[in-house]
Amino acid sequence: MQTAVPILPLIDPFARAITYLRVSVTDRCDLRCVYCMAEDMIFLPKKDILSLEELDRLASAFVAMGVRKLRLTGGEPLVRRNVMSLFRNLSRHLNSGALEELTLTTNGTQLVRFADDLAACGVKRINVSIDTLDRHKFKAITRWGDFDKVMEGLQAAKTAGLAVKINAVALKGVNDDELDRMLAWCGQEGFDLTLIEVMPLGELGSEQRVDQYLPLSEVRRRLSETWTLTNIDYKTGGPARYVQVEETGRKLGFITPLTHNFCESCNRVRLTCTGTLYMCLGQEDAADLRQVLRFSDDDAVLQAAIRDAIAHKPKGHDFVIDRRNQAPAVSRHMSVTGG
Ligand code: SAM
Ligand code: SF4
Repeated sequence: MQTAVPILPLIDPFARAITYLRVSVTDRCDLRCVYCMAEDMIFLPKKDILSLEELDRLASAFVAMGVRKLRLTGGEPLVRRNVMSLFRNLSRHLNSGALEELTLTTNGTQLVRFADDLAACGVKRINVSIDTLDRHKFKAITRWGDFDKVMEGLQAAKTAGLAVKINAVALKGVNDDELDRMLAWCGQEGFDLTLIEVMPLGELGSEQRVDQYLPLSEVRRRLSETWTLTNIDYKTGGPARYVQVEETGRKLGFITPLTHNFCESCNRVRLTCTGTLYMCLGQEDAADLRQVLRFSDDDAVLQAAIRDAIAHKPKGHDFVIDRRNQAPAVSRHMSVTGG
């Protein structure tokens, strides 16, 4: 139901306009990346999960309040049953001009099946997470992954005309010797690359993040011994800071929540598949929008609850990873909040 009252944009207490919503459409995944999940993860009961129609209504309420960019993520968004109907329905906001971008972050395992459909829904760019080009390491990192399937998925994305950005988490002693090769490969394939520092989100079982954490300040210094990296002003609406790799003509991004956080320009909030809105990836501040959604079918009520939640957005996270701080900053895994 639409209200006739003009809707004011979402501004948080630190005068940041909220224009970017990430929606975790499922906490489930077909992989078990060692920095993301424990192998024996317990997933949410299906009854707690919002239906695709409810996710659409919630996301659309944000769009009506000025959100211009929508990213579906997870867990693995493409393993959610019938997820393409959600993309199809949300694409009406692209057609109306209310939304600038509809996109997703995926592990790439289902792209052979879905790349064409995504393009048909108006998706133009996708983020695909691959931390290594070595198939044995790929298996070790993802525990359950099939490297060839992901490579085929990437080709399908290219054929469908989707621009691809590779996301790679920098992992000490795992892929730090490979980042040069990945940069060269992205150049050959026509992909941009973003490197991400491992973040202290959720328990991992036997793995320790302090053993995985590799500061990107060090990575950048090392890469610049081989590559000409020129600072550029390019922005995708996300937290990455980009350089141009002169030798390949592609962009290289750095997401550095630990060595340098960019909370001052944060424009986003994250919605889980149970309808909980997290105002910050690294803090506990949250609002239960599922209750509001199910209590009233008046969108004005929903929008009032969203506005109230945004009024509680914290200033930033305070991630630390060192020997003395081995506990996660928050107990939720990235797959719950949506990376
Ligand atoms: N399954 C999809 C994928 O892997 O692209 C989407 C969800 S995944 C949680 C989103 C991104 O978060 C991936 O690029 C993944 O590498 C990253 N990620 C997961 N756990 C992380 C952590 N603890 N620190 C940093 N990045 C993490
Ligand atoms: Fe799954 Fe993505 Fe987490 Fe890997 S990073 S386990 S693919 S949700």
